[in-house]
Amino acid sequence: MARLHVIVVGAGIGGLAAAAALRQNGHQVEIFESSHFEEEIGAGIGLPPNAVKILKYLSCNLEELHCVPYEGVVTFFANGSEGLPQTLHHIARRFGENWLLCHRVDLHAALKNLACGASVPKSTNAQMSGPPAVLHLGKKVVDYNATLGAVTLENGTVQYGDLIVAADGIRSACRSILPGNPMKVEPSNIAAYRWMVDRSIVKTHPELDWVTAGPSGPKIVTTADSRVLIVYPCRDGKLLNVLGIHSDHGQDGKDWNRPATQAEVTDMFSDCHPQFIKFISLAENIRLWQMRCTPVLNAWVDGSIALLGDAAHATLPTFGQGFALALEDAITLGVLFSSESAAINVPERLKAYQLLRKQRAEYVAGQSRDQIIFPTMRGLFYRSPEMQQDIMGYDARKVAETFFQSIPS
Ligand SMILES: Cc1cc2nc3c(=O)[nH]c(=O)nc-3n(C[C@H](O)[C@H](O)[C@H](O)COP(=O)(O)OP(=O)(O)OC[C@H]3O[C@@H](n4cnc5c(N)ncnc54)[C@H](O)[C@@H]3O)c2cc1C
Repeated sequence: MARLHVIVVGAGIGGLAAAAALRQNGHQVEIFESSHFEEEIGAGIGLPPNAVKILKYLSCNLEELHCVPYEGVVTFFANGSEGLPQTLHHIARRFGENWLLCHRVDLHAALKNLACGASVPKSTNAQMSGPPAVLHLGKKVVDYNATLGAVTLENGTVQYGDLIVAADGIRSACRSILPGNPMKVEPSNIAAYRWMVDRSIVKTHPELDWVTAGPSGPKIVTTADSRVLIVYPCRDGKLLNVLGIHSDHGQDGKDWNRPATQAEVTDMFSDCHPQFIKFISLAENIRLWQMRCTPVLNAWVDGSIALLGDAAHATLPTFGQGFALALEDAITLGVLFSSESAAINVPERLKAYQLLRKQRAEYVAGQSRDQIIFPTMRGLFYRSPEMQQDIMGYDARKVAETFFQSIPS
């Protein structure tokens, strides 16, 4: 029998992971998603060890993600000269899991299956598991009521839940409803051109060997003024994900994610070696993505409502931790709302959720912002084993379990 009735707003990575974690504890979950998933955002993403750990806790079949191992990085300078390659063979030994690269669409599909699939994986406790989460597409939530535990849909319908998880992304409508939270997500003045290209096309051009040679992992081209071109494989190595990061002042009033042209990207990297310009000449379907981060919030929770994922802590992609933090939030809810949870415990458990997650997310998001914005801090994460341990060695489930066990029953 289902224990709590949970409403999740938003079926992105964070919302689906939370739905999967709560379903696996026997709760009945309904997800309201404003889009129809007709334009899934396709992009390569990094899964650092702390994220891989959580996917395994959720019994995600990693085979379905068609991951590529992140085994090393090769850096190039704008003039074409090559830096020393850096290998990452120590990652699994130090942090318990590998660093993997995958396609967002594959991860999204796998999490959707864990949340909404008819059956749960054999490795989860099937007796505890709840019914498949129900996903309502094209249902935009326009209002929240923390006292009543309710959300209002665009069509005026009110839905009630024992627990409401607002995983509605960086433009969260819920965030500013919670007491004392700022309204605005400030621009970072950093943006990235993003596109994907087939590896088989790149392989037909011998001058592009720099892209596919060397260890499996990113190739990074850096310029003296901190423009960066990052290329890395995903989907069994068949696709290459590309990011062209650069300064972008005056972001207010502009579209946060707009189509861009090849000429724009070529212009941005025009002083780079011809082998890099040749690579850009293969780009199609380019988007210009403004990078913004959620400001530090006053509250993540109110009554039976909690923010999760980018709604609470959208971060710059410096450490590739955006997804990981959303997964950590989700597994923390999974631990705090065990199968024994009752509706009456919800506000108190959500206070524990904020206590466990807010400081951690603010630290990772704050560092990832500062290390991209302040030249003196740049690259500190990659140079500091202690910081890597704090960030990638973190086990959100263990932290939450230790906390949960310390609460007097
Ligand atoms: C193009 C792109 C590339 C990225 N690359 C990386 C990467 O390489 N590595 C990394 O770690 N992170 C990356 N990120 C960030 C990463 O996507 C997020 O950190 C992560 O997906 C958090 O997911 P989320 O579920 O919180 O938010 P989202 O994925 O944004 O999901 C929010 C969902 O809520 C829905 N929604 C919004 N408002 C409402 C409403 N009112 N009612 C109902 N539904 C609503 C939206 O339609 C959406 O489906 C990338 C983000 C983008 C956009």
